[in-house]
Amino acid sequence: MKVFPNRLDRGFYQYQEEFENKAIEVLRSGQYILGKEVEEFEKEFADYTGTKYCVGLASGLDALWLAFRILGIGKGDEVIVQGNTYIASVMGITINGATPIFVEPNCYYNIDVDKIEEKISDRTKAILVVHLYGQASQMGKIKELAQKYQLRIVEDCAQAHGAMFKGEQVGSFGDVGCFSFYPSKNLGAFGDGGAIVTNDKELDRLFRIYRNYGSERKYYNCVIGANSRLDELQAGLLRVKLRHIQEINQEREQICKRYLSCICNEKILLPQIDDDVTTVWHQFVVRCQERDKLIDYLSQNGIGSSIHYPIPPHMSEAYKDLGIKPGTLPVTEKYANEVLSLPLYNGMGIEQDKVIETINKF
Ligand SMILES: *Cc1c(COP(=O)(O)O)cnc(C)c1O
Repeated sequence: MKVFPNRLDRGFYQYQEEFENKAIEVLRSGQYILGKEVEEFEKEFADYTGTKYCVGLASGLDALWLAFRILGIGKGDEVIVQGNTYIASVMGITINGATPIFVEPNCYYNIDVDKIEEKISDRTKAILVVHLYGQASQMGKIKELAQKYQLRIVEDCAQAHGAMFKGEQVGSFGDVGCFSFYPSKNLGAFGDGGAIVTNDKELDRLFRIYRNYGSERKYYNCVIGANSRLDELQAGLLRVKLRHIQEINQEREQICKRYLSCICNEKILLPQIDDDVTTVWHQFVVRCQERDKLIDYLSQNGIGSSIHYPIPPHMSEAYKDLGIKPGTLPVTEKYANEVLSLPLYNGMGIEQDKVIETINKF
């Protein structure tokens, strides 16, 4: 038996009939861009996250860069972000010409809120909070700092659909909550997709303009926008999935609780959960000092795994011009060398037994 790091087909088969019916309905409707499915999805997703507005977009990256563009954050401005995030978070900042200021993560792999204040300067305009691997960040302290220094908060919720801090959903704390519906995310589409949520009516209006070439009225363009529309087919399929998101997240939780109680190996450090938050278990990330040996060992036993992420953004070739030297962010860099994501997907069955048994013998 081979175990893959992910099996997206399993998630499809769990609700096959509903997906297929919706796909046929949309295909036959003759309406493929900005129609009823997107409109309904936006209402349902805003409702789900406990926010007033949602705007469907083409990807999570678009949600991020459009957020900073619309908030007027660009050249000469600084945005605080954790060092150990997916590079898209950072690109959302730098596409606009703004500078990312990296902060080290805590033991939950989210931004260490005690290390933010020392990085705030008079150029700082925003904090980009990433709820990594499905776990919500410490929003109380972050909101306090944002208030004290008049900073915007943008949340990167790409991995955290439904995660909560003290009972409130991520995406609802900041000025803008950015979501991705990339197929592997907890609320994943069958292609690319993204959205923002906000409680600010004016921001909602601006996202609608920017996603559609900068026009509110067709062919009358008021700003240089983008083509970043969630399409009808993806929106329809996402509506199906959104009906089941609680089950989807609960199943992931069950799998991860089993990993937590059954993996027993002193070389493997298991993930920890902050008492104030809930996680929706986007990834099950362990740490191991002999990580590369562990990967080989698992692979020899037919088990795939993945690294989220092997190269932190500040050490990526894409960001060599930032001139940040290796060693500048020791915790981030240590995590990059030690983290490993174990197989985790909806519809995972006895494959999990094999992962547990194998890893315990490492
Ligand atoms: C997936 C992801 C993104 C980007 O989303 P896309 O839809 O792939 O553009 C941004 N940030 C984080 C943390 C992600 O995991």
